[in-house]
Amino acid sequence: MPDIKYCSKCGTQLDASAAFCTQCGTPTVAPTFTYTNNPSSAAYNSDKNRIAAGVLAIVLGGIGVHKFYLNQIGLGIVYVLFCWTGIPSIIGLIEGIIYLTSTDEVFFAKYVR
Ligand SMILES: [Zn+2]
Repeated sequence: MPDIKYCSKCGTQLDASAAFCTQCGTPTVAPTFTYTNNPSSAAYNSDKNRIAAGVLAIVLGGIGVHKFYLNQIGLGIVYVLFCWTGIPSIIGLIEGIIYLTSTDEVFFAKYVR
């Protein structure tokens, strides 16, 4: 194994122990789900809990409680407005199952603001 690696973004040759590219600053072990405007490191510091969000979505998803919990207030209000149709309950159930079956990495990257 050579003691070097290459930046996935700009191709700069880097020391194998380098955590960040010396040229562009890209983390050398950047997971594919990391967005530049939503670094997972910040998301991991969140007080949100994937299991709690999933349970809320399944139990109270019909009135969008999980959306309010995830700070998606606008979407939460939509759920409340349409709760009488029963559709948000179905969507909430599905979302809850997705939350519970996702990994924490995927959950935080996708759903936590
Ligand atoms: Zn680079």
